[in-house]
Amino acid sequence: MSEKTLFSRIIDREIPSEIIYEDEHCIAFRDISPQAPLHALVVPRKPIPKVADAAAADAGLLGQLLLAAGKVAEQQGYADAYRLVINNGSGAGQTVFHLHVHVLGGRAFKWPPG
Ligand code: 5GP
Repeated sequence: MSEKTLFSRIIDREIPSEIIYEDEHCIAFRDISPQAPLHALVVPRKPIPKVADAAAADAGLLGQLLLAAGKVAEQQGYADAYRLVINNGSGAGQTVFHLHVHVLGGRAFKWPPG
């Protein structure tokens, strides 16, 4: 059996985190190294390593993640302006290989992103 991901251990409360949202599909908690006043990670309970590994059968789950990300931003008071980021692969900055959506809010964002 493969080892649990870091985020599965957070989901199972084996590692402490500040959980700010939960539903049957996913969980959201504050990033340990926040890059904005709001920096949460929305993580599916299913440990898909990265978005490129999602299958057609995961289409609904991917939609649930975006809906949850919007709810988190709204609940935290950033409904009008927030940024969602998914890093796919180490070359794009992914460091934890359990799919997650970064929800960032509360500061100005540049385009193109860094
Ligand atoms: P990635 O670089 O894979 O897109 O994002 C991983 C994120 O997970 C990073 O922003 C990093 O700060 C965050 N992170 C890594 N380890 C932990 C942890 O143990 N707890 C929390 N809350 N966030 C973590």
